[in-house]
Amino acid sequence: MRSNSKILLIYTGGTIGMMQDVKSGDLKPLDFNQLFEQLPELKRFNLDIDTYTFEPIDSSNVTPDLWVSLATLIFEKYHHYDGFVILHGTDTIAYTASALSFMLENLKKPVILTGSQLPIGVLRTDGKENIITAIQIGADKDVNGESIIQEVAIYFEYKLFRGNRSIKYSANHFDAIQSPNYPPLAEAGIDIEYNKNALWRNTNTNELRIYTQLCNEISILHLFPGIDVKILERQYKDLDIKGLILRTYGSGNAPTQKAFLDFIKYLIDKGIVVLDVTQCLQGSVELGKYETSKYLKDIGVISGGDMTLEASVAKLMYLLGKEKDWNKVKDMLVKNLRGEKSY
Ligand code: ASP
Repeated sequence: MRSNSKILLIYTGGTIGMMQDVKSGDLKPLDFNQLFEQLPELKRFNLDIDTYTFEPIDSSNVTPDLWVSLATLIFEKYHHYDGFVILHGTDTIAYTASALSFMLENLKKPVILTGSQLPIGVLRTDGKENIITAIQIGADKDVNGESIIQEVAIYFEYKLFRGNRSIKYSANHFDAIQSPNYPPLAEAGIDIEYNKNALWRNTNTNELRIYTQLCNEISILHLFPGIDVKILERQYKDLDIKGLILRTYGSGNAPTQKAFLDFIKYLIDKGIVVLDVTQCLQGSVELGKYETSKYLKDIGVISGGDMTLEASVAKLMYLLGKEKDWNKVKDMLVKNLRGEKSY
């Protein structure tokens, strides 16, 4: 950590900044000043910390508009700060981290999201350690004065994860965030140990660019035994979507009934990009490994590899918003753009 590092601490809401309503008992967001009264520790940092607040919300209310505002803010302030720390609700933190990773191209500074399971004002809060270490990671430089983290990441319960590899795993444990298909970027014990081989590096010297055209005309279809094609046909007949995430079984498998495959083919023929993402938390789609995925491959379903659902949603919105040519979207979906998939 350098004492002259400058950090922009951005508040968007979440449990970390909530307090229990005395009458109803519900958790409601605090405003920024009330939150920072609970954090006198920040004054002890030998760093310049500026703050920026959005209207605090429960992250279940996050929309792509917030992602656009965050990406734009980071873009505008990029040269004024060494790192950015975003306080965010845990429910959708992995979606926001994934979206930012695609929207910010050629990022070479840390963008660290964090939150907590217990509000900052509660005695056993996990929020203080999460914020303090996230700020330290945001300020950490190597011996050449370069930021150690040069990507979007989530810090939670002593671990730093790649943002677009993360998922919310637990609703009630402190280690709420996990990255099942990629090792942690760092672990915080007495020292912060960076996993140097796992860190993302841009090989080019291009300046930061942002992409703020996101296309949310997408849908998710989660398979289950007994799924009725007639119901699907009714649901999707008049639906004007450009992309569909098919949440398949195991390594990307789906029923081989003709009616089901005809339905998926009908969607593809309509011009909808269909992306196969497994329901399993760990492992990868391998189209063609089983007969039950070979047919999907044959009709033009795209493999999501080992991408999380969160990264798949964000990547599809980003690519459908950016590219006009759907063949290009399909090509880019299978590529590893920001470390979101292994191959
Ligand atoms: N509902 C909260 C949110 O995502 C949960 C949390 O922050 O942990 O905003």
